[in-house]
Amino acid sequence: MNLEDLQEGSGFRDRISSVDEQGSRKWVYASKVSGRFYKYRNYSSLVYLILFFSIPFIWVHNQPLVLFNILEGKFILFSKIFWPNDFFIFAVSMITFIIFIALFTVIYGRLFCGWACPQTIFMEMVFRKIEWMIEGSPGQQKLLQTKSWTSEWVIKKGLKHFVFLAFSFLIANTFLAYIIGVDELYKIIREPISQNIGLLSGLIVFTLLFYGVFAFVRDIICTTVCPYGRLQSVLFDKDTMQISYDYRRGEPRERIHKNQQRTQGDCVDCLKCVQVCPTGIDIRNGVQMECVGCTACIDACDEVMDKIGFNRGLIRYASENEISQKTKFKFNNRMKAYTGLLFILVLGMIVLIATRNTIDAYVQRVPGQLYQEVSESQLTNLYTIKFINKSRDTQLLDLKVSNQEGMIQLIGNKNIKINPESVAEYEFFVGLPKNQVIKRSNEIKLNIFQGTELLHTLKTNFLGPFK
Ligand code: SF4
Ligand code: SF4
Repeated sequence: MNLEDLQEGSGFRDRISSVDEQGSRKWVYASKVSGRFYKYRNYSSLVYLILFFSIPFIWVHNQPLVLFNILEGKFILFSKIFWPNDFFIFAVSMITFIIFIALFTVIYGRLFCGWACPQTIFMEMVFRKIEWMIEGSPGQQKLLQTKSWTSEWVIKKGLKHFVFLAFSFLIANTFLAYIIGVDELYKIIREPISQNIGLLSGLIVFTLLFYGVFAFVRDIICTTVCPYGRLQSVLFDKDTMQISYDYRRGEPRERIHKNQQRTQGDCVDCLKCVQVCPTGIDIRNGVQMECVGCTACIDACDEVMDKIGFNRGLIRYASENEISQKTKFKFNNRMKAYTGLLFILVLGMIVLIATRNTIDAYVQRVPGQLYQEVSESQLTNLYTIKFINKSRDTQLLDLKVSNQEGMIQLIGNKNIKINPESVAEYEFFVGLPKNQVIKRSNEIKLNIFQGTELLHTLKTNFLGPFK
């Protein structure tokens, strides 16, 4: 982006920042930034990256902490296995997630994009830094572009893309580890390639995908592709906290002149805020869809304000109302209510996940079967029961009739034993004294015990003769 582009500042309503008047891509050469927010983002990104790369290797109670095996329909969260029949938890999680995102965005704007989105963190805190390290400042990068196929160009570009590819490979490995688990991933290293063609293909595809995103597509993901970014405009209101330029203080902008009394606003039109912006926008044009809330412009402007002796905060976290009414940031009642609701939602999800059953059971009377009269005093019905063991341990269970003097007789088995992570089906008779079968259809309850612990109580019907 050249100085004319930066000063133009008018096309922002007609097109996105990374496209010029002819519709061609405008490459964003973001300048290096330093300052308090960048320092905090460095720390938080470091924690984020450590967590991202280490979580697939963390195992608790013989289970990975997290696994999203969409290929086999098996999911593990906090070392608890979720099966497709736990779909309702996923449905509730998705609804909670959407409500969470909506409420969070209404209050805090694009805080997630700037501080927690993997795209921003990898792009700005990993790939951008590699680029600065190898190709130098934006000025040096632009100069390098003019030297195509010189030895300097080949070495620097070659090295940069090699490191980008290596990092993309690392990310792809970790990403795959979240999906298939580290055990499966180790197979690619241990076993002959011919036995793991599928895995290897997945690894190559993901590596090229990440490389393409971070080496070429970059800010277009945020400004064009990401649906969350598109959603912002309908979620923001005048009280939403966002990165804002204080136009009341800054305008009319005027360059600074030595030894001259300043009569205009505090913005000295230095364009530092634009030069550091990774999506190439001018925040002074107001809130824009392309702003990912990275805080770079805050740090850049604060540095300028410090140098010229003005107060910091010409660009800061503030809502539209705070800027227009010149009020200070206030954690108002609406924000408190929404934040409270967010906590309740998250707490509800945690309770739902923590209290989820390890064993599920479904019982039904064998269809088409009537009652049997096995003696003068007893009737029986035939049932099937299906158990799903979601744990990695073998489960020994016991089945009892709960509310009647009934007996249970398993067909062909003496014990109920369910292997780890498997489904087992049993058939059994329930026998009831005739005098307790008072209607054609009688509700009975079956208790499932593990030792002395009652795990489930299932309801079903017991058929008797017409009375
Ligand atoms: S306007 Fe500021 S906060 Fe928004 S993307 Fe650009 S530099 Fe980051
Ligand atoms: S960095 Fe601050 S002073 Fe410089 S142009 Fe941006 S808003 Fe104005």
